[in-house]
This record gives sequence, structure tokens and C-alpha cells, in this order.
Amino acid sequence: MTTPASRTYALGVLHGDGIGPEIVPAAVLVADAAAAAIGIPAIRWRELPLGFKAIEEFNEATPTSTLDALAETDGWLLGPHDSAGYPEPFRSQLNPSGTIRKHFDLYSNVRPAKSFHGGNAVVADTDLVIVRENTEGFYADRNTYAGTGEFMPTADVAIAMGIITRRGCERIAHAAFELASRRRKRVTIVHKANVLKLTTGLFRDVCREVAQSYPEIEVDDYHIDAMTVHLVRRANEFDVLVTENMFGDILSDLTGELAGSLGIAPSLNASHDRAMAQAAHGSAPDIAGQDRANPIAMILSTAMLFDWLGARHDDSGLAGAAALIERSVEDTVAQGICTGDMGGNAGCREFSEAVAATIKQP
Ligand code: ATP
Repeated sequence: MTTPASRTYALGVLHGDGIGPEIVPAAVLVADAAAAAIGIPAIRWRELPLGFKAIEEFNEATPTSTLDALAETDGWLLGPHDSAGYPEPFRSQLNPSGTIRKHFDLYSNVRPAKSFHGGNAVVADTDLVIVRENTEGFYADRNTYAGTGEFMPTADVAIAMGIITRRGCERIAHAAFELASRRRKRVTIVHKANVLKLTTGLFRDVCREVAQSYPEIEVDDYHIDAMTVHLVRRANEFDVLVTENMFGDILSDLTGELAGSLGIAPSLNASHDRAMAQAAHGSAPDIAGQDRANPIAMILSTAMLFDWLGARHDDSGLAGAAALIERSVEDTVAQGICTGDMGGNAGCREFSEAVAATIKQP
């Protein structure tokens, strides 16, 4: 299989904490195998410090030098961070992924949940995507230019501020409708407009306005609480869900597990000109360093980055590499090779080597 790619790509690699140093190299191994199989001339990987190691070396969890270096890349892989485990003052600061998303205005967080044949899905045949607004909403540390929207006027009173803007809603709604137009052509708006009438009401209303530009897309909407119930029973009936920041974060843990495991839930954070691959799950400190982590989420996040880069640079080679990675992960799981969270007994390294070997098969 050879689909010539037009150029080489410089991609940042941030291992992060916990299982990050296991799953990120696994994703690089698989990405390199796919690039070689497709005939992409070269991917130049650049490792950059972040998290615990960066605190030790630079006294910053997200060093300025890392942000500057990322700006020079075509995209990057972000491993998970264990920011809840950082010493103060780092624990109280905006965490690394929040810092990077804010710095590069990565407003769209696309989180697919797709079950595998041979995987242990709670709801079989789930194939949906959560499109999560990533820069404002009810995550108070994301929605201010300086400082955070969370504060304590007295030791016994804590206040958090939610922000929803028309601009924020419009751009995430367009991202959702455009995605749905390439899929099964249905968008479900998730909100809580019966209680948070002004904020999530604005979110719902702007999404409905944007829907007018996409007459071919079927649109419905649910309250966030009702949505969880519908997903548990019939996640396989939904296509694209669009929602605000915190609702999207919570719902995507649920949908990842419904599709088989949080360990298979990938994500891409993107603006119109930058993208970051990041597994939807956290740093899983309970299994870190034991070769038990499922690398599928990180591997498929990398495939999403390849697909995004392929579309942005009109490079069929990268799009082909993305499809090859997805197919090879599916084939590997179908052969019964998977990690413990999916009911198998492969380690992280063994699984990723099996995917790379599947890619290399003629
Ligand atoms: P965060 O707030 O950073 O998203 P979290 O508190 O939601 O983190 P996770 O680190 O995502 O927690 O872990 C939740 C559970 O899922 C843990 O039991 C963890 O071991 C498991 N888990 C997460 N990722 C994986 C993975 N890739 N492979 C196997 N198990 C995982």
C-alpha cells in the first residue's frame, strides 16, 4: 500500500504522568509503523517536558519553553497528567491540558465512543461522538483571561462561575454539525436549560440557530440528566452529541465505558489551525508502571490527529495512515489480543507491538 504523502511533519510528544510514559510511546510505535507502511517520508517526533518531570527540571508543570516549542510543530500527542498529585503551588494552578488548551484556544474537544467486535462493550454497536466545548462553560478555571472563575470570599463559602458565550456556542455547534454531515447526520444538543436557563439555554438556542444552516441534519436535544439514562440504555442510537465543557467531560467517561472501557476512549482537541491528540482518560496512577494500561485511547487519538492533519494539508497519505491504524487496532482486538480492562491478558507493550505487527502484514 503506497499513497505518497506531500511533506514531512514535526509532531510534539508529551509523555505526562502516570501511565503516560507507557501509552504515549505505544502510540508513537504504532504511528511510525503506519507511516512506514503508507510511505510517509518522515515524522519528526520531538519530546517535550510536562508534568512531574517538568516541575523537577523547570519548576513549572507546563514550561513556557514547551508551549513555545509546540507552536513550531504541526500537532502533538499529550499524555495524561496527575495534577491532583502535584505538590503545591502546582496542584492549585491550571493543569497542563487546561493550560495548553487555553494557550492555543483549542475550543473543540472531539471524543468518539466506538465499541469493538470482541471488546466488552456495555452497549454493543455504540458509535457516537461527543463534541465538547473546551474553553468556557462550567469549568471555572478555563473561562477567564487571568485568574480563575472559582473563588472563596470566606473559608466557608466557595463560588464558581460558569460562562457561555454566543461565539463559543457558535463555533462548537459548527464543529458538531460539520462532523455529523460526514457521519449519520444527527446532532443531539445536551444542556440543562430547565434549570440553568440563561447559560445552557443560550447554548441550546445558539446550537438550534446554527442548525438552520445544516438542513440535512436531524436535531434533537436532551437535559444532561436524562441523557445519561438514554445513553445507558441505547447509546448505539446516537450519532453526534454537542455539549458544554463540564457536561462533555463527564458524559465522555460514561460513553467510553459503555463502548467497552475508558481505556479505548480517544480524543482530539482542535482549533481551526492546531490539534492535540489526548486520550479521554486520566493518568490512572493506580496501574501506572505495571504495563497494564490500555494504549488504545492514545493510539486512536493519534490516528485522529493524522486524520485532522490529512484534511488540513490535503494529504491522503496521512488520512490513509489514520484509517490503517484504526483498522489494525480493530483487527488486533478481534484476534482476542487486548488488555485486562477489556477482558484480555496482554500488556500495554505486547498489545501495541501486536498492532504494529498487524500494520506491517502485507
Ligand atoms: P482525570 O480526572 O485526570 O480524567 P480520573 O480521576 O477520571 O482522571 P482516570 O485516571 O481516568 O481517573 O482513571 C479512572 C479509572 O479508569 C482508574 O481505575 C484507571 O485505572 C482506569 N483507566 C483509565 N485509563 C485507563 C487505561 N488506559 N487503561 C486501563 N485502565 C484505565
